[in-house]
Amino acid sequence: MTKKYLITSALPYGNGPIHLGHMLEHIQTDIWVKFLRLQNCEVIYICADDAHGAPILIKAQKDDIDPEVMTKRIQQEHTTTLQDFNIKHTNYYTTHSDENKDLVEEIYSNLLEDNLIYKKKIKQLFDEKQGMFLADRYVIGTCPACGADSQFGDGCEVCGITYEAEELINPISTITNTTPVLKKTEHLYFKLNTQSNLLGQFLEDAVKQKAIKSKLNEWLDGELADWNISRDAPYFGFEIPNEKDKYFYVWLDAPIGYIASTKNYCDKNKKDFMDIWNKKSDYEIHHFIGKDIIYFHGLFWPAVLNASKYKLPNSIHAHGFLSINGQKMSKSKGTFITADQFREKYEPDLLRFYFASKLNSKIEDIDLDLKDFTNKINSSLVGKIFNIGSRVDAFIKNNNYVLSNKYDRSFVDSQRKQYDQILKNFADKEFSKAVNLILRIADSINSYINEKKPWQLDNEEALLIATTSLNIYIDICILLNPITPKLSEQALKQFEIDKFSFKDLKNDMLGTKINKYKVVVERIEETELNHFNGNEMTVQNDKEISIEDFAKIDLRVAKIISAENVEDADKLIKIELDVGVLGSKTVFAGIKEAYEPKDLIDKNVVLVNNLKSRKMKFGISEGMILASSNDEGGIFLLSSDNGAKPGEKIK
Ligand SMILES: [Zn+2]
Repeated sequence: MTKKYLITSALPYGNGPIHLGHMLEHIQTDIWVKFLRLQNCEVIYICADDAHGAPILIKAQKDDIDPEVMTKRIQQEHTTTLQDFNIKHTNYYTTHSDENKDLVEEIYSNLLEDNLIYKKKIKQLFDEKQGMFLADRYVIGTCPACGADSQFGDGCEVCGITYEAEELINPISTITNTTPVLKKTEHLYFKLNTQSNLLGQFLEDAVKQKAIKSKLNEWLDGELADWNISRDAPYFGFEIPNEKDKYFYVWLDAPIGYIASTKNYCDKNKKDFMDIWNKKSDYEIHHFIGKDIIYFHGLFWPAVLNASKYKLPNSIHAHGFLSINGQKMSKSKGTFITADQFREKYEPDLLRFYFASKLNSKIEDIDLDLKDFTNKINSSLVGKIFNIGSRVDAFIKNNNYVLSNKYDRSFVDSQRKQYDQILKNFADKEFSKAVNLILRIADSINSYINEKKPWQLDNEEALLIATTSLNIYIDICILLNPITPKLSEQALKQFEIDKFSFKDLKNDMLGTKINKYKVVVERIEETELNHFNGNEMTVQNDKEISIEDFAKIDLRVAKIISAENVEDADKLIKIELDVGVLGSKTVFAGIKEAYEPKDLIDKNVVLVNNLKSRKMKFGISEGMILASSNDEGGIFLLSSDNGAKPGEKIK
């Protein structure tokens, strides 16, 4: 009986481009999917854009675009990029869909019926200027435990403590740079705590990786907090039925998007998605995720599914994070590479090969070291594997490209013995081991050619060596197909093999006419991080900035409306600025030694408007005014020519 699978990758968030971190997960999933498909299993590979939540709403507002239009555009970009890397989803959809809305409402009503939802009034930080409640990531302030400045609303990066956002000292909204107020609101909670028995069982059955198992067990053994599944308007998501101005929290509807994307595919193809998702379905369901979202997939998702009519996943498989040249991926450090930037420089299959050579079934972080990448591609993929076709081409040519009728059986058999182990490694998600074994076979073929020296033999003997080598070469091209599908298919064209599965391994090719060898992949040049994209990529320490970097600084003309010395501060003057349509701002400027407050009134100055607010002993400084200075101690405020109006953008 054909084994059936539904496999998912976690949903990329719809507010920015696909980057190499996303690619790590999609490549890992896609290798496993392709492996199963080559085993003649039925595999439905599902993904979608995660298109809801506050960050999407805020980005859309900032870019002055309808969030629906924005997420649609980004979904199309994601689809194209993923296809460029030969990721073959059965369906790539969005969570902002009618199918998902219906499913979310249905599952929510099941939760209500099962008495798993209750309401609770809480107090939450509210940004009055923006008119919205603030998610933790939009609040910064001083850590209540250690006093560190500029910490986010969910925990302190300095001392590691976690807290509620309202416990921060002097919290500031990062959206408007204003001080939020505590406001009462009512939320809907899911009784996660009642589900701990089910979750314990789920952990036993579906979680095979030790590190995740013990992390989840740790959470289960502690007090499981009930889960707030609602968010106040304004929000981009689905409204909760029979509630006023309440939306489902994005993390409730995102995983339901797996089911919705399946339904969308099935409806288009006249299938019934319930055949796949019903509790007794004979499809195995496997989720591939990053280690940062284990909590949601290992606790909330199975607990929510359990109360529905849908099947629980058979396994959750987590991977580690990606670093670039040993550093965390970060835009400011220049270590952030989008998938499109990578593809402009290199064939996408090369990234697939590199990741495969490092991936195993554990949750280890993976480093893309650009030097190592170049070496690995040149020495392994180009030098050892795809070079084999070229090495023996001349000897086949001498026979008008017709292979010999026989080969060296003992050599062929000795190599073919190893395929079962390679297939097992694929099945176990031990891709680096599969790559190593394939490379070992390629090494053997190369040694075989070196030892037999066909260039010293007569045509017939040389043809036999070439035919022997190519019979194993064909097999390793097939074995490599899940990893480097495009290169593998290109190489197999030489032998007119276009449709194949792992059943075709060990098929002899004797006495057949084949095509002339064509280069499959060429050596690559080593590259530096900043070569990926001259505009956006800047390496740390590089003094040059791009025009885009400069544009990030929001400089404005501002008029000083009041100025006063700050008591107890030798250098500071407190200045109130009129920034036109942007309202008024307070800054503390260290210019006391050069200016009298009264001389500053009505002066036009240059304000760095989007500088992160800084809490000082005397109050909050909401920006910076620019001045020049020299070694003799002079301070000179920058000013605008007559006619410039407060609030005007400087560019
Ligand atoms: Zn702290």
